[in-house]
Amino acid sequence: MLRGRCECAAVAYEVPDEFVAAYICHCSNCRAMTGSAFLPWGDIEREKLTVTKGAESVLVDGEPDANHAMRCGKCFSLLYWTPRDGFFRVPYGTLIDEPGLKPTAHMFVGSKAPWYEIRDDLPQHDGYPWTVGTG
Ligand SMILES: [Zn+2]
Ligand SMILES: [Zn+2]
Repeated sequence: MLRGRCECAAVAYEVPDEFVAAYICHCSNCRAMTGSAFLPWGDIEREKLTVTKGAESVLVDGEPDANHAMRCGKCFSLLYWTPRDGFFRVPYGTLIDEPGLKPTAHMFVGSKAPWYEIRDDLPQHDGYPWTVGTG
């Protein structure tokens, strides 16, 4: 199991090491949301993610039964959100343990921060790495 947590550690979760996709997003929304140059994330099937601590203090942003993001109600760290049916998208920065699936490419490099230079050899996509509409 991989453990994850929010900044203040009020909320913790567990997922098996079974992420199905992982990318590093440089879009302007991910940058604004994190205050960072990019957001590395991984997709995991929803039933595989378990909130193990602080479930009573999570903040549901959006529709619980539809699209939503889950944040810690105390420190407001983003824990996961619903990118597509059946999956949660987990910011890799919240993981305590190392996932087997590392980010495979950069996405939305076309709108990346001009002050940040990508210094690895991963593929770079100007927008989505997949056909728009399936993400
Ligand atoms: Zn917190
Ligand atoms: Zn993004």
